[in-house]
Amino acid sequence: MSNTAEDDELLPLVPPPGSNSAQAQGCSCPVKDNNHGLGIRRSPDSAEAQYWIAEGCPLHALPAAPTAEESNEPDELQGHPV
Ligand SMILES: [Zn+2]
Repeated sequence: MSNTAEDDELLPLVPPPGSNSAQAQGCSCPVKDNNHGLGIRRSPDSAEAQYWIAEGCPLHALPAAPTAEESNEPDELQGHPV
């Protein structure tokens, strides 16, 4: 067992969805579906794991980003083809 700074850099800031660490921090993502934080692999050879993110999870479900682009666009009140 060795704790090095390099290992810390590899760790994400937020524990993966469904992991015990995430649960301890209030994660509400599905545990089984995320394989207890290990994620889901579509194929055994796949290196990237995918996660289910619960809507409203304080850790993983980010609040909806402000849609500045849409709000800046003026409503098309004119020019509708008949
Ligand atoms: Zn979560």
